[in-house]
Amino acid sequence: MLIDFTGQVVVISGGGRGIGRALVERFAAENAQVAALDLAFPDPLHGDGLPDGIATITCDVTDAESVRAAIKDVVKRFGRLDVLVNNAGINVEGTVETLDPARWKSAFDVNVLGVFLLSQAVIPIMKAAGHGRIINAASFAAIIPSIGAAAYGASKAAVVQFTRVLAGELGPWNITVNAYAPGMIPTAMNGFAEMPEAAQSRLLDTLSLRRWEKPDDVADLLCFLASDAAGYITGALIDVSGGKFATQIPSRAYEGLAG
Ligand code: NAD
Repeated sequence: MLIDFTGQVVVISGGGRGIGRALVERFAAENAQVAALDLAFPDPLHGDGLPDGIATITCDVTDAESVRAAIKDVVKRFGRLDVLVNNAGINVEGTVETLDPARWKSAFDVNVLGVFLLSQAVIPIMKAAGHGRIINAASFAAIIPSIGAAAYGASKAAVVQFTRVLAGELGPWNITVNAYAPGMIPTAMNGFAEMPEAAQSRLLDTLSLRRWEKPDDVADLLCFLASDAAGYITGALIDVSGGKFATQIPSRAYEGLAG
């Protein structure tokens, strides 16, 4: 079987809630040993803990020392590290004219510096093993950004270029590095599901598949990218957005105009 993570160790940043939590549960269900890294456990917003068997490690991805200690802890517990998912991220909104520079910086600290620090920490382990997978959360905002998303969109575009460079640097060690671009998954980060119906409808109208994305839609892709089946894919940005703006005005197909 190509997708079976028995004996492999998967580290997921921001694994305490949202998409990260779904990734933690999914990789565990696929027989991986999983370490979830996050600012606090249980998640302060939802208060729910992770299932038994998951290693929960407190880590601030913007802090080099915290990242080094977390990766050291993973290796101490499991003796190896095969897959790193750089999922932790924050959304920062505000027009360029009004955005506080401190908030701009926080977007780049978590979304870019965090990806850099965690990647840097796992490289020696993966090089020594002669294999590895690094998978980075970009966003559809790295492809087509929204108004008010200068900080978020620019930080996620930076993740894409970082991914390409790292893929080039790590190719000789059989380590693949890829990024993915989800579209719209209702989570604490965006509150899509709490918006008035008309606002939800306007957003859904941008999607060819016209439904909110589920965390498992991302988990399906990431299990593939982390598996042997994706061994020849590196330096890619994979769009997992349900066909957001795949065509102009995708909602026309739902209005019976597509023939
Ligand atoms: P979320 O807010 O529900 O979860 C983010 C997680 O990251 C939280 O558990 C949070 O505690 C953690 N985190 C934040 N700062 C951290 C830090 N400094 N150190 C360690 N952990 C930290 O968000 P989500 O919607 O699950 O998003 C997960 C990832 O997917 C993010 O990178 C986000 O940009 C990306 N993404 C989400 C969507 C979407 O529609 N939800 C779309 C595109 C991309």
